[in-house]
Amino acid sequence: MPDPLQTMEKTVPDVNILSEFRAILGSKGYSDENDVISPWLTDWRGRFTGSSPALLSPANTQEVAAVIKLAGKHRISLVPQGGNSGMVAGATPDNSGQQLILSLRRMNSITAIDADDGLVTCDAGVILQNLHEAAAKVGRRFPLTLGGKGSATIGGLISTNAGGTQVLRHGTMRMLVAGLEAVLPDGSIYDAMAPLKKDNRGYDLKQLLIGAEGTIGVVTKAVLHTVPALLDRCVVWAGIDSPSQAYELLLFMQRHGRERLEGFEILPDRALNTVTTHIAGTRAPLETQHRWHALMEFVQDDAAQSSPRELAMHLLEQAMSANLLGNAAIASSDAQAEAFWKIRDSIAEAERAAGPALQHDISVPVAAMARFIEVESPPIEAAYPGTKTLAFGHLGDGNIHFHVKAPDGVDIVNWYAHDGKAITSHVYDRVRAYGGSLSAEHGIGQAKIAEFERLAEPARLAALRAIKNAFDPLGIMNPGKLVPLA
Ligand SMILES: Cc1cc2nc3c(=O)[nH]c(=O)nc-3n(C[C@H](O)[C@H](O)[C@H](O)COP(=O)(O)OP(=O)(O)OC[C@H]3O[C@@H](n4cnc5c(N)ncnc54)[C@H](O)[C@@H]3O)c2cc1C
Repeated sequence: MPDPLQTMEKTVPDVNILSEFRAILGSKGYSDENDVISPWLTDWRGRFTGSSPALLSPANTQEVAAVIKLAGKHRISLVPQGGNSGMVAGATPDNSGQQLILSLRRMNSITAIDADDGLVTCDAGVILQNLHEAAAKVGRRFPLTLGGKGSATIGGLISTNAGGTQVLRHGTMRMLVAGLEAVLPDGSIYDAMAPLKKDNRGYDLKQLLIGAEGTIGVVTKAVLHTVPALLDRCVVWAGIDSPSQAYELLLFMQRHGRERLEGFEILPDRALNTVTTHIAGTRAPLETQHRWHALMEFVQDDAAQSSPRELAMHLLEQAMSANLLGNAAIASSDAQAEAFWKIRDSIAEAERAAGPALQHDISVPVAAMARFIEVESPPIEAAYPGTKTLAFGHLGDGNIHFHVKAPDGVDIVNWYAHDGKAITSHVYDRVRAYGGSLSAEHGIGQAKIAEFERLAEPARLAALRAIKNAFDPLGIMNPGKLVPLA
């Protein structure tokens, strides 16, 4: 049977069709002006730019449903977009001029926060940082954070199943969604907002929508779990020799940290230098020189627990005598703790300022990650002179951002097309050899779709296509992302 997604003709929206969208959304929710649309046509990394004749910004679920129904009627493709902070160009339209951006940013209300059951109900367009602030006001905390928190939206975080720096203790977005509402590609509204702990009515569509990158529906609302606000925290910066030593340190801290280790990130000295060079107001936390660094956060969310500072000091002393680290600094104030985290959170931005690089958001089994970094980095730098590998991130989750900076002064378009492509394929081949994933937390989008298709197991691809075809037989929801055509 031919793949319906491949055979379905799409329409270029003409002025008559566009005026039908305008009639649904009104002047606040519709724009075909270039200067309004153009900031949303390029992905955060600046690698993909598309075009779109209009930006659709519905105000509520009913408007989303009406827009999707109309798009289906005219065979118009829609590209759902939240904060456009995604790393794989999943929210960027293609160049055909046929795709309309469907922005959820106007739907940004937090409608309920219940400090007793810990649940928060909000629209898909709520920005993560605003959710953090709202939760803090009622003594709660939404335990997912990442560098893009000032622009990433709840709908985008759900649709990419985002991770971040607290996965070690609280899991990815998938673990934090208690309920959601979405509009499916036929315009029907799927209401799974009841926060049921148990629900065995077969396939869990809610889970299918999490991480679906807008390919089988548009998330419009969510109910999310929060945890009690922290009573105290202690952030530690440690100088170490190698990823292997970092892994030993991680195991030690997990074993003795009484489940109060909330974050464990690593970065090479090269990443620290990139940040201190390009990001104003940052400086190295330690005066001593180290090849690698680990950033740890210990927390206290229960009055019966000892202070996290006490716990951290005790553990650091022991770790130091066991030769698991070279030196360490404990943040002495909240401002200093934030300064340590700012270094970690600014790596992507600093690297963008430092010049072009290939980004690989990869995972392998946690126990294998240090070996991966140590064994796989040198051959790349040797085979491609001038390149510099930069592996940083969530060691505790077996998830590293394995980046390869292009040599200075190369013709970058040409480099991406040849050496860059070969390096990326090589990295993903090696990841597969370790039993890992070519996308740990950023998704597939359009940036990874070709490599995903090359390396995915046939059964995985077939299931993905079957699901896509079942939900979106017209192929109007974010085509060209996540699901490779057959
Ligand atoms: C500095 C920086 C650091 C980052 N660090 C991390 C990190 O540590 N971990 C991590 O996981 N990510 C990280 N990210 C990536 C990014 O923040 C996440 O992918 C985030 O989930 C994207 O949210 P968004 O609202 O910007 O989504 P967008 O970029 O707008 O969209 C992302 C995808 O979701 C789809 N989508 C968006 N909204 C909806 C919706 N309502 N319904 C259906 N589909 C939708 C889009 O079509 C697209 O496919 C980082 C980004 C930046 C800029």
